[in-house]
Amino acid sequence: MKENTRLRYHEIYPRIYRIILPLPGDKPGPVNAYIFTGKTVTLLDTGTLKTVHILEHALAQIGISFSDIDQIILTHGHIDHYGAARKIIEGSRGLVTVAAHEEDKSLIEHGMEVPRKQFIKYYQLMGVPLIFQVSFLLIRWLFSYMAENCRIDRFLSDGEKILMGDYEATVIATPGHTRGSISLYLEKEGILFPGDHILGHITPNAFVTLEADFDLPQRMSQVEFYDSLQKIEEISPRIVYPAHGEPIQNVGSTIAMFREQFSLRQKDILSILTRGEYTVYQIGRKLFPDISGKRLPLEIFLMVSEVYTHLQLLQKEDKVASYLDKGALYYKINNHKASALIYRAEKRGRISCSVYASAISCP
Ligand SMILES: [Zn+2]
Repeated sequence: MKENTRLRYHEIYPRIYRIILPLPGDKPGPVNAYIFTGKTVTLLDTGTLKTVHILEHALAQIGISFSDIDQIILTHGHIDHYGAARKIIEGSRGLVTVAAHEEDKSLIEHGMEVPRKQFIKYYQLMGVPLIFQVSFLLIRWLFSYMAENCRIDRFLSDGEKILMGDYEATVIATPGHTRGSISLYLEKEGILFPGDHILGHITPNAFVTLEADFDLPQRMSQVEFYDSLQKIEEISPRIVYPAHGEPIQNVGSTIAMFREQFSLRQKDILSILTRGEYTVYQIGRKLFPDISGKRLPLEIFLMVSEVYTHLQLLQKEDKVASYLDKGALYYKINNHKASALIYRAEKRGRISCSVYASAISCP
């Protein structure tokens, strides 16, 4: 099997190569792109625009140029997964087709799910101070230097079969991390490529989903994320190759760890609400008191997303209630429903409290 540690690529299965591409920051860590050589040369995710030359160099070592690639499949619409796709299309003189799920179309083709004004309104409802609203928009602008948007030629849907290299893959819709996240499963070989839906070293964030015409997100990302995990559990892959980090041999125990972390996080939030009525931002700062540094606006975004998506579910189960005050949403505990679930302090410290792409830690 071909292997080159200097260029950080290696053959994970006959004619399937993992290429490791750098990404700033230590979480979630470098991006794994996968190239399937053979009948239908397929690139699964591309890394950012900033690492397109590293990708090109690694592919050349494997004996592939951009014009040899038949299709790019994108697991989801985040910049570290689609950022270099346009450059590859240009490098192939437009011969490469791009395939992704339709629900991530606006992220991949335009970079944003909703207009900026609507995003600001959401942040106000979450009680986020103005300084972080402005600085987060600045970060998004900086992000645009790491990716070029590109058109999607083919929409993939759940259950569809697609040829990747010499292998037949099944598309599995696994919404939660984004609404259009997909996993690719080589059934005969028992190999799953879940994108960011399952990572071995951190819990992926079930990102809040903003929608046009609604000030507050309607879809429940956490519920979708865990429903999607159930799907993966049912197919029980032999090995999982995620989009960041090392392969996962025992996916069942990784999923069990996600579930434990999920329920402890909910109990933590309820515990905070026994002490007062707070906005999403205020709950987040109590839950993650240590966040700081130059990535703070991004950490605030992740924190708000994490807390709000949990509150959505707690509210649906009638364990918390919310009310509007001076343009911000406040949450309070619904005691008789929640008291049985309040988090017991002695359980703390058993789990990792980091969230995706952040250095947030337990209180
Ligand atoms: Zn992602």
